[in-house]
Amino acid sequence: MSNIPIEIREKLSNDFELKPLKILNSFKSADGTIKVAFELWDGNIVEGVLIPSADRITACVSSQVGCSLNCSFCATGYLPYKRNLDAGEIFDQVYLLKKLALEKNNINLSNIVFMGMGEPLLNYSNLLKSIEHITSPVGLAISPQRITVSTSGIAKMIKKLGDDNVKFNLALSLHYADNDKRTSIMPINESNNLEMLAEALEYFYSKTKTRVTLEYCMISEINDTEQDALNLANFARKVKCKINLIEYNPIDNALYKPSTNIATQNFIKILEQKKHIVNLRRSRGKDINAACGQLANKLLK
Ligand code: SF4
Repeated sequence: MSNIPIEIREKLSNDFELKPLKILNSFKSADGTIKVAFELWDGNIVEGVLIPSADRITACVSSQVGCSLNCSFCATGYLPYKRNLDAGEIFDQVYLLKKLALEKNNINLSNIVFMGMGEPLLNYSNLLKSIEHITSPVGLAISPQRITVSTSGIAKMIKKLGDDNVKFNLALSLHYADNDKRTSIMPINESNNLEMLAEALEYFYSKTKTRVTLEYCMISEINDTEQDALNLANFARKVKCKINLIEYNPIDNALYKPSTNIATQNFIKILEQKKHIVNLRRSRGKDINAACGQLANKLLK
């Protein structure tokens, strides 16, 4: 910037750092989903995904390098946790995916989900700061109603979201509505059990009046029995919510398989008989390991 005085240039280079994300690589799925590997200033890599559908295009972004929570069905859970992303690094993923959506699909980014690598609520202040910039009129001016933060369930931080009266949507990755079984696939449940989560979600609703989404990956003969559906129906009665069932995506590290069509339909029937709102989410980007739970920097280094 040779058009500004040398003292200011020196001050800028002494006091500030620019650490933009670089797109290291990207892969396109047969269904149009694009997985992007972002290289951070320190050489670490995180992944983001752009998911086009009939009426929208969604960016899925990461909040941490690796993850400390070791959910057994998730590829990121097998990567070591290295560090939190800063607010700028989270913002940059959205910015670059928004640019990509315009270049490749000629559509403006419509939704953002924090469902990539890491547990967003364990990086709370950077998460909120990045969303502040994403939603700001001088940032990307994206409505908070189009943003969903997904958590594996940190009760204390769910309550804090309520106290901070956030305007974005919240999703809980539930995957089991029985404490012992949930702990067996999500160790975080040991310190944040279902009773604590139900209470925290109720509190969140009382403060924000926003209904949460319960996400439930359908894993064959693991969590898709009739009893599992009844447990889920019971849990869902305790909180203002809707239920998203998600087709499970196999990963190399675990032997889990997706539920059969019959098991999934029976599961939905039981939930609907109990008067719950249920959506079934089909997987996107499976062939490039970009689907839910598959982000592990595979193919991209
Ligand atoms: S599901 Fe989320 S919290 Fe669990 S290991 Fe994967 S990234 Fe971490």
